[in-house]
Amino acid sequence: MYKSSEDYGGGEMGKEGKKQIRGIKIQSMNYAMIAAAAVLYVILIYATIQASVRYRRMMDATEDYILCEKDAALVREGSDYLTEQVRLYTMTMEPEYMEAYFEEKNVTRRREQALAELGGYRTSQEAYEYIHKALDNSNRLMEREIYAMRLIAQAKNYDLDSLPEEVQNVVLLEEDERLSSEEMIASARNLVFDYGYQSAKELIATNTEIFLDAIMKWTRDRQMESASSLEAIMGRQRICISILFVLNTITFILVIVLIVKPLQIYINCIKAEKQLEITGSYEFKYLALTYNDIYEVNAANEILLRHKAEHDPLTGVINRGAFEHMKQLLKTTADPLALLIIDVDKFKLINDGYGHEVGDKVLKKTAKMIQEGFRARDHVARIGGDEFAVIMTNCTEELRPVIQEKIDAMNQKLQNPDDGLPKVSLSIGIAFSDSGFPDDLYKKADSALYIVKENGRCGCHFYDEND
Ligand code: GH3
Ligand code: MG
Repeated sequence: MYKSSEDYGGGEMGKEGKKQIRGIKIQSMNYAMIAAAAVLYVILIYATIQASVRYRRMMDATEDYILCEKDAALVREGSDYLTEQVRLYTMTMEPEYMEAYFEEKNVTRRREQALAELGGYRTSQEAYEYIHKALDNSNRLMEREIYAMRLIAQAKNYDLDSLPEEVQNVVLLEEDERLSSEEMIASARNLVFDYGYQSAKELIATNTEIFLDAIMKWTRDRQMESASSLEAIMGRQRICISILFVLNTITFILVIVLIVKPLQIYINCIKAEKQLEITGSYEFKYLALTYNDIYEVNAANEILLRHKAEHDPLTGVINRGAFEHMKQLLKTTADPLALLIIDVDKFKLINDGYGHEVGDKVLKKTAKMIQEGFRARDHVARIGGDEFAVIMTNCTEELRPVIQEKIDAMNQKLQNPDDGLPKVSLSIGIAFSDSGFPDDLYKKADSALYIVKENGRCGCHFYDEND
């Protein structure tokens, strides 16, 4: 309990330890994770933009196909409408059908409108040529249709000036000029119903179909191209997300291993008033070593302070306060013990005759001799100016002769000094206890000391009930 201050070292070990710290730095780990995550997020964002571009292209291809289909239908519808009107005209010879025909040809112009629209889309050039051919075929057929209408007008003797310009401009073949009205009507009908007309119509339909097939193929190619590059982009996204997942998992594990766990360990160490375990990241290890340094210095300071508070500065043995404390501690122990109260005889004369300094030296010498004369487990205290006490632990009355011997040897030495200090002697009162330090033990030892002082000093007396 009462250790010397020399037994405790400083915090030198910590400085050495800090130089050798090995461990992952949270700061470096953090930077590395941020950099890796930033790169991955940039790739992810770029891939997402690319994916939406590819998706837009797929949608555009589908939209373009729908519009192409609509325009192809318009070309066919326009052509069929003209056929219908010209056929109705040749059959009924009602001018409204001719009007409707030219309304379609010159005003509504569904076929031309559709083609103009198609020119504006991103369509395949090859496919575009087929729809163009369909329109050319349709236009060629129109010459035949207008010729048929001219034949009807001629047959019916209509006023040419009231007819559309295209009909007026038709020059009939000589053989047709010679035909009768009925023959002209029959010829006109034949022109728009015969096999040649039908074949030309089918050619328009075939070209339109080929156009649509080509557009379909072209759309599918565009979609496939976008789909495969979308697939590749999504593959890269999956890789990035997987790496991010792994990075996140590693971060969580590192946070637990390098930060959370060490914090728990440190809190437990602090609660247990122990030094911190050197664990976790570089920063935590550094903190732990610094804490341990401070802890060691504080512990050493505390021990020094306690030592100062408990020991007598002159002689180095424990002081009166510590002696009183020890009395309390031993009060209830079961072990037997002996209390010796030692007083230097006529010490005032030493002070008066040789001076206070010599007196101090005598006190130091006496204390040292008492300490050396008793066992390490016995407690020596300075309880007054020239008064000392010894508590001999685990000591029974059987040890009387041993105690007597020790005292005689000490007095022998003090009476025959070889160090130039004046002669002195000790008077000692002794009392035993069968267990612990009872309240009256001090009084008993003191009364035994009084008897020694009364009987000429320089010696000892063991307390006896009959004194
Ligand atoms: P007795 O044999 O009856 O004990 O006589 P005594 O002269 O020793 O008388 P007492 O024990 O009463 O005197 C103790 C003296 O010790 C009184 C005091 O001046 C002196 N003293 C107390 N503390 C110190 C100290 O720290 N240094 C020195 N040099 N003297 C001290
Ligand atoms: Mg004295």
